Amino acid sequence: METREIANQQVTFHCYNTVIVGSGAAGMNCAVHLYEFMERKGAANPQERIAVVTAGLGLGASRMSGSDKQTYYKIGTSPDVPDSAEEFAKSLTAAGCCHGDSALVEAIGSLREFYHLVQAGVPFPTDSTGTFIGYKTDHDPFERATSAGPKTSRFMSECLQRQLERCGVRIHDEQEIAHLLTVGSGLSKRIAGVVTIDKKSVDKSNYAINVFLGANIVLAAGGPGELYKTSVYPNGQLGIHGLAFKAGLIGANLTESQFGLASTKFRWNVSGTYMQAIPRLFSTDADGKNKEEFLTDFFPSMSRMATDIFLKGYQWPFDPQRIENLQSSLIDILVFNETQKGRRVFMDFLHNPIGSDSMEEFDIDALEPEAADYLKKAGARQDTPIERLAHMNTPAIEIYKENGIDLYSEPLEIAVCAQHNNGGFAVDKWWQSNIPRTFVIGEMAGTHGVKRPGGSALNAGQTGGLRAAEYIVNAYGCEMADYSGKQSEIDRQLSGLVTGLKRYDSKAGLVPEDAIESVQSRMTASGGHIRELNDARRALKEAVKLYKDMQRHGFKLEHAGSIVQAIQAEHLALTSVAYLKAIVELLGQGSGSRGSHLVLSEDGIEIHPDVIDKATGKPLKFKPENQSLRSTVLQVEYDESPPDLFRCRNVELRPAPTDRKAFEPAWQDYREGKIYSR
Ligand SMILES: Cc1cc2nc3c(=O)[nH]c(=O)nc-3n(C[C@H](O)[C@H](O)[C@H](O)COP(=O)(O)OP(=O)(O)OC[C@H]3O[C@@H](n4cnc5c(N)ncnc54)[C@H](O)[C@@H]3O)c2cc1C
Repeated sequence: METREIANQQVTFHCYNTVIVGSGAAGMNCAVHLYEFMERKGAANPQERIAVVTAGLGLGASRMSGSDKQTYYKIGTSPDVPDSAEEFAKSLTAAGCCHGDSALVEAIGSLREFYHLVQAGVPFPTDSTGTFIGYKTDHDPFERATSAGPKTSRFMSECLQRQLERCGVRIHDEQEIAHLLTVGSGLSKRIAGVVTIDKKSVDKSNYAINVFLGANIVLAAGGPGELYKTSVYPNGQLGIHGLAFKAGLIGANLTESQFGLASTKFRWNVSGTYMQAIPRLFSTDADGKNKEEFLTDFFPSMSRMATDIFLKGYQWPFDPQRIENLQSSLIDILVFNETQKGRRVFMDFLHNPIGSDSMEEFDIDALEPEAADYLKKAGARQDTPIERLAHMNTPAIEIYKENGIDLYSEPLEIAVCAQHNNGGFAVDKWWQSNIPRTFVIGEMAGTHGVKRPGGSALNAGQTGGLRAAEYIVNAYGCEMADYSGKQSEIDRQLSGLVTGLKRYDSKAGLVPEDAIESVQSRMTASGGHIRELNDARRALKEAVKLYKDMQRHGFKLEHAGSIVQAIQAEHLALTSVAYLKAIVELLGQGSGSRGSHLVLSEDGIEIHPDVIDKATGKPLKFKPENQSLRSTVLQVEYDESPPDLFRCRNVELRPAPTDRKAFEPAWQDYREGKIYSR
């Protein structure tokens, strides 16, 4: 550790072999594997070569998010239903825009990483023979899904943290990333380190700057949760996408965010048994008065309506391909419709769904077979939703109780929320980005395609971390970073950063909170689950203007923490430009409705005869998916020259490798390290 003065600021330098940004399940796992691989290689004191740098140990989706039984999707472990990596990879790539090689690697690494978590202490349930019990998500015959309860990802990151602490690896907490330090250019460009503001010590004159230099950098800072106003990402999950774009990383599939029904007072997904218990859904005005059974006008029978509520359990993300003919995503549309009118929507677990005058009463025996059979098998035929939920999953009730909501006495407010981004940054089959020695893992990596099986995000985060760690140690080695030849380049960049931060402080500038709010409202309105090309174009223009205004006029910094919020606002604003640019480009290519977003179009298909476009008074229509785009991934790269700051291109999918060598030559490749050729 060394402290030097740069532009009148004390800057503390730390030096490591690998710096990992983010302490979620992905980052923690990568750090544990790095330690294990380094130890196996014989590196002295591996714990001194690795650091985790994070805005908050208790922050992020892994620590703070979940659902009724948060799903971990792995290769099937049933004793009698055989599964294979190729079959698993097929499920990951089924809806397109997903590289075959990384999907196969996620499949092959699945069990290794699952058992790694088991060894770390994550309480995945077994039966008396030791079989890890699985369940089906949406017709998966292999019962690949499993869960350690509502807080699976929290247990994962906590167990891995304990392992890391036993190894003695340092976690630098409360470090807000302000900049990714680059050296060199073109093919020799590298990210040399991360620059942080220590949130514990920052004030208006002392920025408390730390620089963490690494020969290798692993970015595991999660999804851009704060991008959306209506969101189930935990508060404070910001990510570092804008900073990564500026450093030169290439984005992939950014358009493929996932949206679904979630509670808003306490941010939590209401998937699985919350819906399978078939609660009543009702709406009120903004003051909580004038209750309405808002679903009833759109369904011909109680049986169909109640079955759709049930199906939302495992058909959780909003899916435009599940709207027509009264399928389950019509529920998301109708909930959204209500909230657009300024009304509020609630789930009521004390009552069964209530129908209209023309509907029969709720009757569990009259449900369609898929729902009726499931509830019968689960023994969940009690009289009320809360009893059925309590029977199927008491921890799902307890998690709300822990967070101040008693489902036995109050309804639960819900909305269609942003939950996850299937896209992120482009990586190869070792999770290495387009900049050598910089790896991107977890939700920040864009390895999923247009759709992904529920629970596969956690699997991908673990396998990605394993792959990055293995590659770093075996292909690049365990030496500490040495940028002595690049010191002046680094100092110049740091002094530019400090000058920029000083310039932020301007009376004519924006209030950081207001700027963030403006980004979030725009993204929810124009980059959410319902999109339209002209609207997205207008939103992109506004987003670019906001970003440029920030740079021109700076921010009003009212308190010590404002500098951190200003940094966040600036990179979040750039992130929103990237996302909207990708959306405009994709819609311009005629992509249509896919994944978890619906594209409105006058010449499209009716959503429902009674879902009306307010502007025209006619039924709203949506454009179906253009499947020819499934064989490419839309990439987005920062470039200052075009007016909207990013360039886009479609890249072809990489296939899954099919060559299978005999044992002896494969063993030789392994011994000689040839497996690490890119
Ligand atoms: C409500 C909800 C339910 C979900 N359910 C499932 C599920 O059932 N199955 C499944 O597979 N996936 C699920 N997901 C997705 C999954 O939880 C996440 O994708 C995963 O936990 C992300 O892990 P991560 O380690 O990549 O990032 P995170 O866990 O989000 O961690 C990010 C880390 O980066 C740090 N960080 C962020 N920004 C900054 C910054 N600016 N500066 C410094 N540090 C920063 C944070 O402090 C944190 O330590 C769900 C997500 C949500 C929101």
